[in-house]
Amino acid sequence: MQLQNVILLMGPPGSGKGTQSKLLVDQLGYAYFSMGDALREYSKQDNPLAKRIKETIDGGVILPDNDVKELFFDSIAKIADKPGIIIDGFPRTLGQLGMLDELIAKYHVKNFKVVFLEVDKQKLLGRLTTRKTCPNCQAIYLPGTKEYISEICSVCGHKILIRPDDDPSVVGKRFDEYITKTAPVKDHYESLGQVIHIMGDQSDLAQESIKKVHQEILNKLGVE
Ligand SMILES: [Zn+2]
Repeated sequence: MQLQNVILLMGPPGSGKGTQSKLLVDQLGYAYFSMGDALREYSKQDNPLAKRIKETIDGGVILPDNDVKELFFDSIAKIADKPGIIIDGFPRTLGQLGMLDELIAKYHVKNFKVVFLEVDKQKLLGRLTTRKTCPNCQAIYLPGTKEYISEICSVCGHKILIRPDDDPSVVGKRFDEYITKTAPVKDHYESLGQVIHIMGDQSDLAQESIKKVHQEILNKLGVE
């Protein structure tokens, strides 16, 4: 089997992107590629590219497109035996869009789709600022659950808390930043008619809503 399907999963912080990626990977048997993870992983290696990546992570500088490209194609080559890939956090810029076109051409990808998880900002803020998170295993608990009241994680037993970066002003800023930064990329695929919009209003972290969103994605992708 060779790589035939590529899905870009886009969505602002709090849209449930990580959860939905994982469900799609499990359901479809695809590989998962996150640019953030790839950068962190690669920086541990011992070669010139890894060294440059480490410098950009430590120094907060932007990695030149040529390096991003090398990292991207190296990483994809390792998972190209899967029937498809879910891509998260890439492309970030118009300059990186060309790399995706190259990927599609190189592997003769048949199906390419962009899934955008829509989220209402006000609802997102309300939701995030009331949830509690386990700092140890990242499990999330909503008001009304027994863990929320006892403040003990039922997965790992750690004490759970409201995360400092779930503060409304921080979340609002991250949300706006995401929308602004990814707008050119989204607009590009929008103009090609390749964007599937998923109403993330359903994605309020309750199990039932997560399943609903997952099913909606599958339906709109045309997967049974
Ligand atoms: Zn935990």
